[in-house]
Amino acid sequence: MSSWHIPDDLRERYLEGTLGPALAMSVDAHLGRCADCRAAVPYDKDWLEASWARLEAELITPRPSLAERFLRYKGVPDHLARLLTATPTLSQAWLAAVVAVLAFAVLAARAQAELLPAFLIVAPMLPLAGIALAYGPRVDPAHELVAATPMSGPRLLLTRATAVLAVSVVLAGLASPLLAAPPGLAAAWLLPALAAASGCLALSNRLPVPIAALTVGGVWLAIVGTGRFIGSWLAVFGPAPQIGYGVAALLLTYRFYKVSSR
Ligand SMILES: [Zn+2]
Repeated sequence: MSSWHIPDDLRERYLEGTLGPALAMSVDAHLGRCADCRAAVPYDKDWLEASWARLEAELITPRPSLAERFLRYKGVPDHLARLLTATPTLSQAWLAAVVAVLAFAVLAARAQAELLPAFLIVAPMLPLAGIALAYGPRVDPAHELVAATPMSGPRLLLTRATAVLAVSVVLAGLASPLLAAPPGLAAAWLLPALAAASGCLALSNRLPVPIAALTVGGVWLAIVGTGRFIGSWLAVFGPAPQIGYGVAALLLTYRFYKVSSR
């Protein structure tokens, strides 16, 4: 850092606006990093405050959306509500797709009992699709902006993934009783869904989120396919596999948490 400061005559010409562009820019640059020289520049305090207030009103305080106001009303902190509802429009498409897929799977399973596994197989993949769509530079117009904030990276991913998971679990949970199946079987998708979502998070420490989601989806289909191979589609939804999904969900969540918090 040099001890050079803007001489009085230069400052006067700068304020009059008679400096050439190159000189004016170097004075600007120096003012930006030198508090002493900034203090020597006279300014109208009221004008400056009014300008900031106007900027703030235009840029920083946009009208909250209906969903955001609902979340705030439910006690979600402001910044979190903003973040959750600022997910890209694609997540609305995802929501519509989840409802359509669940409705279709329920109708199919009610029409033909042997189609019940389709519901159980598809339900754990819905949050994966949601996580892949709700996060990432290609789909999120706010990604650049958000990536520069303290809430970026793993914490943001976790926040949105949890939101996506909660929405899909609630929707699939509402659909389950409509299945013509015993409650235990109708809810057999829940632990696989938790395991898949936490697997996606854990993998995202190493892979881009959409690739992680695809990989986990592939693993899930391979597990289901193996079940079909050794007996029945429903083999992978029995008590022993369920314990496995539960343990996997806990371990993978712990792993994601540990890796991303160091
Ligand atoms: Zn200076």
